[in-house]
Amino acid sequence: MQDVATSSRTAETTATATAPTSRAECAALDAADPLAALRDEFVLPEGVVYFDGNSLGALPRRTMAGVTRMIEQEWGQGLIRSWNGADWYPMPHTIGERVAPLIGAAAGQTVICDSVSVNIFKVLISALRMRPTRGTLVSELDIFPTDLYITEGVRRLVPDSQMRLIGRDGPDLESVLGPDTAAVLLSHVDYRTGRLHDMAAVTDLVHRHGALMIWDLCHSAGAMPIELDACGVDFAVGCTYKYLNAGPGAPAFLYAAERHQDSVDQPLLGWSGHADPFAFEPGYTPVPGVGRFLAGTPPMLSFAGLLAALEVFEDVDLHQVRAKSLALAELVIARGDELGLDLATPREPERRGSHVTFRHEHGYQIVQALIEQGIIGDFRAPDHMRFGLTPLYTSFSEVWDAMDAMAEILATKSWQDERFLRQGTVT
Ligand SMILES: *Cc1c(COP(=O)(O)O)cnc(C)c1O
Repeated sequence: MQDVATSSRTAETTATATAPTSRAECAALDAADPLAALRDEFVLPEGVVYFDGNSLGALPRRTMAGVTRMIEQEWGQGLIRSWNGADWYPMPHTIGERVAPLIGAAAGQTVICDSVSVNIFKVLISALRMRPTRGTLVSELDIFPTDLYITEGVRRLVPDSQMRLIGRDGPDLESVLGPDTAAVLLSHVDYRTGRLHDMAAVTDLVHRHGALMIWDLCHSAGAMPIELDACGVDFAVGCTYKYLNAGPGAPAFLYAAERHQDSVDQPLLGWSGHADPFAFEPGYTPVPGVGRFLAGTPPMLSFAGLLAALEVFEDVDLHQVRAKSLALAELVIARGDELGLDLATPREPERRGSHVTFRHEHGYQIVQALIEQGIIGDFRAPDHMRFGLTPLYTSFSEVWDAMDAMAEILATKSWQDERFLRQGTVT
């Protein structure tokens, strides 16, 4: 795991080498790749190149054994005794502590609970209550829609609260911040374009305006070093089913800086956040610390998947992950340039997350044509083709071959076939 105190900038300065220009060069990079062995940790179907780990991470092999063990032994044999005997009860905390080093959090600030959407709700209401003389929540028009919808829900719920959005109420953060700003919610990496915010600089700017900073880490946790403590972040939320590979719908993480924990008043007062849940008292007293953000009974089978997935990260250096991610992206960008594709992702490595996005009027069909060949990226409306790069299991040679396939699809216009027009519910 990464050293929390080390700046992520070190990785970025080493990752700007020019992209490989042949398949042989890609093979040489794969042979020298310090992360190459990690691919064996994952189940990847024959013939599939997986560029969607930023949406649903691949299945770690050890997950099957871990989940089966929980089902057969801990549930099947242990029954209710496993809440104590198999240490189920403290898992929101114990697994939170395994996520903590991946996000630059010292102990005692991270719990696993609920979904990102629900956690955003808890944190936004908490933030408004911590700034009682201010009523404005700031976010971004282009942020992942659930973040916007939850913010809108909070605005409707809290009398006299307002919402201001970068991209609607002003061109940049500075222009929408004001003396009434209570909190700012931003996504570290933009889900469409892959643009990365400078966490330290943005958090600093927000604090200078007296507001609280909340980061959504869905598209960065597990893909790069993150330094929540060092940046002085107030709250953060993030997914475990994207780059952390915990499985579909696995629960989210929530980070609350230690300095806020004992004053924070989050709105979902469930028994899991009670100081003494098994006293079954009629009155609510929050447990000291970050545990007060818990609400109900944790989904243990999903926790088993998360636990197994985090074992894969135990010896992983996130600076190496970041360096490889940027190098893979350089290759995608260079070959996309050759094909005349319209890059939506920033070119500067320090402004990129771990996916590369091209805009194309017929992006949906092109992505479908790639998927038919086993090259699984995805499409985000209106015209974004996304290629998620997951250094734990993606090789340079695969990226090279996938871009060959893309070249072929564009040259022959094979995407025009009407079978590529049919749209599923999930894109
Ligand atoms: C994937 C994603 C979410 C998902 O939220 P859920 O509640 O897990 O469905 C939220 N925010 C961002 C930025 C995302 O990328």
